Amino acid sequence: MNIDPQTGLLDIARQCPSPNHDERPQDCVADLIVLHNISLPPYEFGGGWIDQLFTNQLDPSAHPFFAEICHLRVASHLLITREGEIVQYVPFHRRAFHAGVSCYQGRERCNDFSIGIELEGTDFTAFTDIQYQQLEALLPVLVAAYPTLSLQHITGHEHIAPGRKTDPGPFFDWQRLGDALGFYLPNV
Ligand SMILES: [Zn+2]
Repeated sequence: MNIDPQTGLLDIARQCPSPNHDERPQDCVADLIVLHNISLPPYEFGGGWIDQLFTNQLDPSAHPFFAEICHLRVASHLLITREGEIVQYVPFHRRAFHAGVSCYQGRERCNDFSIGIELEGTDFTAFTDIQYQQLEALLPVLVAAYPTLSLQHITGHEHIAPGRKTDPGPFFDWQRLGDALGFYLPNV
C-alpha cells in the first residue's frame, strides 16, 4: 500500500469522501494516530451505515439510534471493516472531525494534530485478525509518508477523552499491535 503525498490518499483504500474536515491550524502537522471503534447500529456490523454517517447521509428513520446521531458532522480519516477493507473518508493532511474534546500529553483539540482510524467493532467484541493485519501494514506506511507521525505516538480515543469515550475498548489488543510494531502501551 502507498500514500500519494499530493492528494493525501491511500491507494488501496475505497474512497468515500466526507465533507467533515477542514484545514489544520497553521504550523500544525499530524503527529498522533488515534484509534477508535464504531458500529452502526450499535453492536451490528456491515450495512454501509458508517459510510452514511460520515458523509452526512444517515437516514434518521432507519433505526432509532440514527435519529440521535444523524445531525453529527463527524468523520475519521480511515475505517477498517471487519473484513479488512480500508475505507478513506478524509485526506490525511486535512483535519477530520473524529476526536472531539480531547487532550494528549497536555495538548488539547487532538483533531488539530492527529489522524483518526476507526476499527469496525464494539467495546464488547474481539476485533478480527484481518483488522490487526491491515492495521499492522498500514501504520508503518503512514509513518513513512508523514515523518512527523511516530509509532511511539499511537493512542486510543478512550485515552485522550477519558470519562467521555471508551473506544477502542478493552477488547482491542494493544499488546498484539505493540508486539508487531515495537511499542508496548497506548500512549495517553
Ligand atoms: Zn472514537
